[in-house]
Amino acid sequence: MNKADKHSLVRKRILDWYEENKRDFPWRKSSSPYQILVTEILLQKTIALNVSNIYSAFFTKYKDFSEIFNADITKLQSDIKGLGLSNKRAQILKDLSQMIITEYDGKIPQEPEILKKINGIADYVSNAYSCFGLNNRTLFFDVNIKRFIQRVLKPQDMKVKNDIIYTELDKLLPKMDFKDMYWAILDFGSKICSKNNPKCELCPISDKCLYFSLPVS
Ligand code: SF4
Repeated sequence: MNKADKHSLVRKRILDWYEENKRDFPWRKSSSPYQILVTEILLQKTIALNVSNIYSAFFTKYKDFSEIFNADITKLQSDIKGLGLSNKRAQILKDLSQMIITEYDGKIPQEPEILKKINGIADYVSNAYSCFGLNNRTLFFDVNIKRFIQRVLKPQDMKVKNDIIYTELDKLLPKMDFKDMYWAILDFGSKICSKNNPKCELCPISDKCLYFSLPVS
């Protein structure tokens, strides 16, 4: 099997697994760029379940960037305290809201790179927003996506460079269903290919995984 066939097979099996096992998070059904961008900030450095627990109350209270901009920051911190890092996270939301309200007339700038002017917003959030909020096939990864790609495709190269991860991710992402593929990898990393004790015995791609084929040391 050549490498292109391998990427295509892994893609298909992971998407098939996702159809049966996907996690049901409200932000995946949202078409609001505001909610999608704010959610990516809320999801940083916490587990998705924590965000799910506050999602409805948060967006009922803060319906747009002007409501965050006008909010008392201590109230905002309190409303997101269940996520951890609430002071830092609230400051990012306040700074972002200020930029959008005062410089962009309340509209999210068309160029997601501009979001990185905000201290605390980096490549992952701006590219994830571009993907999920604007439907662009952007490349981005967090530790969970990186772990999956590294295990399946590059297990012996533990210092694998980011540009190699980007190259492999680009080969793995479909042209159309790229959002589903990202969600599939994230859910697969949470349920099967976890950081500690991956459930290789339940894995639909174990016969294609280089980590699984490594000799036990
Ligand atoms: Fe992850 Fe194990 Fe599956 Fe490889 S075989 S992708 S390490 S769960």
